Amino acid sequence: MAAPGLRLGAERLFEMPAVLERLSRSNSTSQAFAEVLRLPKQQLRKLLYPLQEVERFLAPDRRQDLHLRIFDPSPEDIARADKVFTATEGNRIDYVSSAVRIDHAPDLSRPEVCFIGRSNVGKSSLIKALFSLAPEVEVRVSKKPGHTKKMNFFKVGKHFTVVDMPGYGYRAPEDFVDMVETYLKERRNLKRTFLLVDSVVGIQKTDNIAIEMCEEFALPYVIVLTKIDKSSKGHLLKQVLQIQKFVNTKTQGCFPQLFPVSAVTFSGIHLLRCFIASVTGNLD
Ligand code: GDP
Repeated sequence: MAAPGLRLGAERLFEMPAVLERLSRSNSTSQAFAEVLRLPKQQLRKLLYPLQEVERFLAPDRRQDLHLRIFDPSPEDIARADKVFTATEGNRIDYVSSAVRIDHAPDLSRPEVCFIGRSNVGKSSLIKALFSLAPEVEVRVSKKPGHTKKMNFFKVGKHFTVVDMPGYGYRAPEDFVDMVETYLKERRNLKRTFLLVDSVVGIQKTDNIAIEMCEEFALPYVIVLTKIDKSSKGHLLKQVLQIQKFVNTKTQGCFPQLFPVSAVTFSGIHLLRCFIASVTGNLD
């Protein structure tokens, strides 16, 4: 999946302090990311490569279970992706529109990524965190019972579109399931589906419905583990291993590396931005 240049990023980060120094001074690095790069090494690892933090608690012979090196971008690539997510005059990042039916969705030729997950999984918090470099973007949330749940479209410059899909749950009405299903099945420019799973409770019954949908439509999708700041290291490791095993043995279309994130500590957010930039062809 990752281009050769994207491999072994984390290793480079920790073996080459000069890279960090050069990057934090480079004009191509955003102010915010330059500050990130000045963090102490361990904090930096936790923020940029949360799976590596988890790996440290595994016996060496189990480390390969985590598939850490499939998407392992260099700090330069992470900095470039942050640029893509930074709103500027020439890179407008905006809410575009909302739709309840696929035929009302904006007709966009750009690549698209969508976020799906159970209500309360942390989807709006995650999307807000991804868009933190575009503070004008308003991530709309319609959670009040009785309010129509919609798909919300955001454009990221000329690069790609992010779609916030309505949260699902036991009480999701049928027309809502139809909306998600139809979108996933018919959206031609959909490059990747990000399926959010709460890292505290792991994969739930309703998550399985979404996983089955992605599998049935042979979609390329990725499991993002939310709220990782809420668990102890041991609990998180247990969940990561369990879910990774599930991905390895029970799925076809799921990307074999998990993306743990926290919208509170920002852990994993830069890496996820980088993955989105990569799958939409913006790191080539
Ligand atoms: P959504 O229904 O999936 O959009 O979920 P929200 O983003 O509204 O989050 C649901 C609840 O989880 C809220 O109380 C959030 O503050 C909380 N939450 C979301 N993300 C995180 C996180 O990364 N860490 C922690 N500790 N809480 C989170």
